[in-house]
Amino acid sequence: MFHNARIKLTSWYLLIIMCISVSFSAVIYRVLTFEMDRFAQRQQVRIERQLENRELFPEPPKPVSGTIQQFLAFDPDIINETKHRLQIQLIAINIAIVGIAGALGYVLAGKTLKPIADMLDEQRRFVSDASHELRTPLTALKSSMEVALRDQQFTTEEARTIMKDNIQDVNTLQKLTDQLLELARIEMNGHKKHYQVVNIRTVIDQAVKRIAPIAARQAINIESQSVSIAVLGDSTALVDCCIVLLDNAIKYSPKHTTVHISAITRGNDVNIAVRDHGIGINETDIPHIFDRFYRADSARSKTKTTGYGLGLSIAKKIIEEHSGTISVTSSIRKGSTFIITLPIVKPRREA
Ligand code: ADP
Repeated sequence: MFHNARIKLTSWYLLIIMCISVSFSAVIYRVLTFEMDRFAQRQQVRIERQLENRELFPEPPKPVSGTIQQFLAFDPDIINETKHRLQIQLIAINIAIVGIAGALGYVLAGKTLKPIADMLDEQRRFVSDASHELRTPLTALKSSMEVALRDQQFTTEEARTIMKDNIQDVNTLQKLTDQLLELARIEMNGHKKHYQVVNIRTVIDQAVKRIAPIAARQAINIESQSVSIAVLGDSTALVDCCIVLLDNAIKYSPKHTTVHISAITRGNDVNIAVRDHGIGINETDIPHIFDRFYRADSARSKTKTTGYGLGLSIAKKIIEEHSGTISVTSSIRKGSTFIITLPIVKPRREA
């Protein structure tokens, strides 16, 4: 498909360049031939006038054939030959232009289409990854219901257990679709509309409050410390972003450990750091953890199916939307620190 589109675009480039080049050549040919005829005509008039005034010869000689004017005038064959040579040269120039423009057009078409092709590839990969992630829990759900349906001696207690499992599967499916929708919304610049002055301390307090029940279930203590500083942004999105980092810190840490969240100012920025004492991230995984659907093997084995590898890509998109950056440092079995950097809103000076 990419190749076909490239050829089509090259043809269009070529067609446009050829239209311009042929029109120019036609104009140049017309102007030059007109000037040649005009020059010959004027020369003829000049000779005739000089002959009449006897400026050229006091006694004009008699040519062997024709008149003396014809003898002295420009040879029309030479003029026609010059015109013909001009025609051939212009055709040759146009052929050279076709060749050069074709090659350049092909390169240019490739460059023009590359970002579109990359975007389509990414879209295709995303759809295929999303379908794959959705299919696994759906298949599990379907087969557990089919097995239950086939069972003749099905007790109410067993039915309850299966329904509980199914609800858990539905919950994870719901989380996945919520995350997919969130990603789509950010990609459509959904957050930017709601930007306002947001206090980072409030953002952190809200995130800690919302994650507290999950931390309590894992017997993990959360310590938070934050400066009161304002940034411009979408407070819901920033809270969601902190929750993603806190949720991961809890998910990938052993019980009875502490997760720290803090915010400090650095020049014109505020740095929000989420630090845990968990399993850590392999050096080879670090460049990929912000990619969609990426999960490190260590995460898969520790947390079974509690994530789809979308949290960090959502967090990264939110932070980039806020003109900030997100980075990580980690060491295996010691823990990880995620740092978000956001530009501070400067207080307006009174006049
Ligand atoms: P998931 O839902 O799998 O947690 P994320 O996008 O949030 O997806 O994270 C991507 C991967 O990054 C995780 O699967 C895990 O391997 C790694 N990761 C993220 N945060 C941490 C952390 N605090 N400690 C260890 N690994 C982490």
